[in-house]
Amino acid sequence: MMSTTLEQGALLIDGEARAGAGAAQTIIEPATGATLAEITLASRADVDAAVAAALDGKWGRVGAADRSALLHRLADAIEGRADELTELEARNVGKAITSVRGEVRAAAGVLRYFASVPGAVEGRSNPIGGSLHSYSVKQPVGVCAQIVPWNYPLSMATAKIAPALAAGCSTVLKPDAQTPLSALLLARLALEAGLPPGVLNVVPGDGPGIGAYLVAHPGVDKVSFTGSTASGTEVMRSCADSIKRLTLELGGKSPSLVFADADLERAAAGCAWSVYGAAGQSCEARSRVLVERSVLDDFTGRFLDRAAKLRVGDPLEDATQIGSLISRAHRDRVHSFVEGALAAGAEVLRGGTIPAGDGAFYPPTAIADPDHGLDIERSEVFGPVATIVPFDDEADAIRLADDTRFGLMATIWTGDPARGPRIAGRLDSGTVGINMPFTSFPGVPFGGFKQSGFGREFGFDTLDDYLETKSVIMWTGRKSPIPID
Ligand code: NAD
Repeated sequence: MMSTTLEQGALLIDGEARAGAGAAQTIIEPATGATLAEITLASRADVDAAVAAALDGKWGRVGAADRSALLHRLADAIEGRADELTELEARNVGKAITSVRGEVRAAAGVLRYFASVPGAVEGRSNPIGGSLHSYSVKQPVGVCAQIVPWNYPLSMATAKIAPALAAGCSTVLKPDAQTPLSALLLARLALEAGLPPGVLNVVPGDGPGIGAYLVAHPGVDKVSFTGSTASGTEVMRSCADSIKRLTLELGGKSPSLVFADADLERAAAGCAWSVYGAAGQSCEARSRVLVERSVLDDFTGRFLDRAAKLRVGDPLEDATQIGSLISRAHRDRVHSFVEGALAAGAEVLRGGTIPAGDGAFYPPTAIADPDHGLDIERSEVFGPVATIVPFDDEADAIRLADDTRFGLMATIWTGDPARGPRIAGRLDSGTVGINMPFTSFPGVPFGGFKQSGFGREFGFDTLDDYLETKSVIMWTGRKSPIPID
């Protein structure tokens, strides 16, 4: 599997797979610590070549129907190679293969959603009057730099390329240096599906060096970045220098709100899934579990039972529900947050210890925070660690939920049909779920309030992020309109 993906190198530029001229990178299988591949990353010259290939602009001149057909063909290709993509991603990220199977299906789904929109982009005629006539058209914004993190490499890559390609933009995709494999295979499938060379280029590299160089590149018109708020701040600063268009999908510290009138068993299962799925390495992980005080003990017992029953282990086993973290270094970082909470006197309700072995595993961990005072409540841990915090009433729940610099996702669990929409209207959160924990659907805009970023992924309006409006005004009168004529 690896040999066919990487035999000509880990980059894809202007339709050619090639080795990067940048730093050497060992790709690790985090669940075992074994080496999965040895590659070389992109150099600055590779980024220059990728941007030059994307600059051609020919993709924007391909008709909407043909762009749509090619995106459908790419979705077909993903479905046709789903097993290969799934195993590649599960090995590279360490995530449970059953979850990755869903991610691969969803990747094809996102492409199909955006395949249906190119023909729906319309212009308009503008009101002026007299002998003046005006119309506006939408045209592709230009070359896109699209930067994705390691936690959902294929899903994030398809969520970015689908609207860009649908809008007629060519793109340079930069996967994380640790997880470039599925993006490379995706770009190869795009070529096989018939996308012209140069439309989708892949340049894996580090963030501060290659990512920052790509963002600042004068050939890039639009940046779409998914990653941490700290990196997003740097990206935004860099884009300001040349007023580049920018979308930021950043971090989160999202809450679940569990009311006493909820189906507590279902809420416990949903809350456990929302924080421990993907081993907590999700931007939308609902790592703060807020529980109405009158059911705190009852709910906490059920939640801990659910956490205990989760099967953590070999990502390639179908029975596994939670795989490993991305690396031992990241696992140690996650553990340091738990140690910090312990040092501050917190009670660890379960988990909280590093298991023996070479894999980067960490157990589903729960910490009680009765006073909502722990530092861990403020930081994005990005691991399988939940805090459980009581609240007194609806107003208190909303206050605690919004007591964060982030605003990505919140889930409300309640038996009162009016309460969910009422609270959803008040929360500072880009997405709110009611009695279900799921977050991303191709037709539903997803993105952040506050420091979780701006702009949206998914949904029809995302297309506008990749389009410029151009207005044309013309004179249709017989006499010249120019006053000095
Ligand atoms: P990160 O910011 O370190 O890296 C993300 C990507 O950005 C990588 O490809 C990296 O190489 C690149 N990068 C880093 N610094 C850069 C810079 N200065 N210029 C250009 N590129 C740069 O984040 P991470 O730790 O790899 O990923 C986890 C973070 O991503 C978490 O904070 C998580 O919440 C966030 N995330 C957000 C969403 C969302 O949709 N809001 C989705 C997934 C992950």
